[in-house]
Amino acid sequence: MSSIKKIHHVAIAVTDLQQALVFWQDILGIENSELRDIPQEEAQVAFLPLGESEIELVFPTSNDSGLAKYISKRGAGIHHLCLEVDNLEAMLSRLKQNNIRLINEEPRVDQSGRRYAFIHPESAFGVLVELYEKIP
Ligand code: ZN
Repeated sequence: MSSIKKIHHVAIAVTDLQQALVFWQDILGIENSELRDIPQEEAQVAFLPLGESEIELVFPTSNDSGLAKYISKRGAGIHHLCLEVDNLEAMLSRLKQNNIRLINEEPRVDQSGRRYAFIHPESAFGVLVELYEKIP
């Protein structure tokens, strides 16, 4: 069994990272802890920790990534919701058993070694949902 622990982050797709930081960091006052390139997702991400969760500003670094296509279709705005789970394999197999459409059938691994997978919005009432495995 796997359970969901918390909202890990809410990701917001932006068309201008510096301008977005002026609003989120300088005006709202949420400190940006890190700016990172994510080559495998063709994106640059700003991490703004907020309590137990984070706001992530995601900016496409290419014109043909999933993120870039998303922005050209829908414009900037909330891109995905990330839930932290304690056992990603178990959660993915539960989702598959329930015929939930997944973008990643198997866990992917990010640069920091964290395992993640995306659920297709078609199966999640229009919301792109990311699952992050809790780092013990
Ligand atoms: Zn995310």
